[in-house]
Amino acid sequence: MFTVIQSAEVFAPQPLGCCDVLLSGDKIVAVQPDIDIAGLQPFGVQVVDAKGKRVVPGLVDSLVHITGGGGEGGFMTRTPELEPAAALQAGVTTMVGCLGTDAITRTLPELIAKAYFLREHGLSCYCYTGSYEIPARTVTQSVEDDIVLIEPVIGVGEVAIADHRSSQPTVQELARLASQARRGGLLAGKAGVVSVHVGDNVDRLDLLHGVCRLTGLPHTQFYPTHINRTAEVLDAGIKFAECGGTIDFTASTSPELLAAGDIPAAKAAWLALKAGIAFTQITFSSDGQASLPAFNESGELEHLAVARMDSLLESVRVGINEHELEVSQVLAMVTANPARELRLAHKGQLKPGNDADLLILDAQMNLCTTIAMGQIHDFNT
Ligand code: ZN
Repeated sequence: MFTVIQSAEVFAPQPLGCCDVLLSGDKIVAVQPDIDIAGLQPFGVQVVDAKGKRVVPGLVDSLVHITGGGGEGGFMTRTPELEPAAALQAGVTTMVGCLGTDAITRTLPELIAKAYFLREHGLSCYCYTGSYEIPARTVTQSVEDDIVLIEPVIGVGEVAIADHRSSQPTVQELARLASQARRGGLLAGKAGVVSVHVGDNVDRLDLLHGVCRLTGLPHTQFYPTHINRTAEVLDAGIKFAECGGTIDFTASTSPELLAAGDIPAAKAAWLALKAGIAFTQITFSSDGQASLPAFNESGELEHLAVARMDSLLESVRVGINEHELEVSQVLAMVTANPARELRLAHKGQLKPGNDADLLILDAQMNLCTTIAMGQIHDFNT
């Protein structure tokens, strides 16, 4: 069975103009103008008219608390697990699940099982071993073995630095973890990346520079996130990118976080581009299902919001509408760039041979249809 999406304005994410996209099962077969489907009719061809619409790759979200997160304000602040529909409605077709502060009541076996659950619902899901902590919690007693032997595991994280919730690792401890992840990645042909949660302590990204100096590891070994947390963290992130690293901005936010200095992801991208950072070194992730607690002045919890994956596409719209970012560049930040960083070869770009993960959007970049591994999910927008 074939599917052809006809006459869309295609961003692969680079702009291709008006094209058809031909899918066979869960793969992309062709992306070109005026595909002749006459010869395919005997096999069955589903035609989707996308005139006036835009077709882009399915979004790649490098940080999602798929088994739920939070709990930092006591048990009542635990957040729920991700529902597959929330990802599909957000246009996310590929994600990386992770643990955060809590690796006691949230476990890696649960995380890996949830990744398989999401796969069985048509999504593409991978995992990080470890959590905020160093030494990292693992399944096999070794970060390296987890990456080599457990198929969905592609790296370690989100390891916390510059944060009161961090294990306060030394340069040597982080260097050892990074070397284990790197060797695991090399042996398994995976990213072997260290995802790093960056807090707002004054040392910021110093630890990562220290490890690179000590070991000769490239800055791309680390994938630091929450780099839009404050103006000071963004400055440190820009310096990290100047050393060759890729920086990740968190798309989900809240009025309380914004009041505390959080910079919206789209604005942070605009500022980084203005500072001379290449668009290829910038990504957005949602931090989906993380808790966004609001405390009153006496430190009591007032209410709790849950980070949403649809903040990614919203950040793309804000980038285009408010900051005049190029459509293809801001799309790359949520598709091709994270796929490259995570070494997911068949993701993040619309080209023959890649997985059939794509979105149909209207001219205002509102989601009409998500196609995940060839399965079509329509939304009435
Ligand atoms: Zn984090």
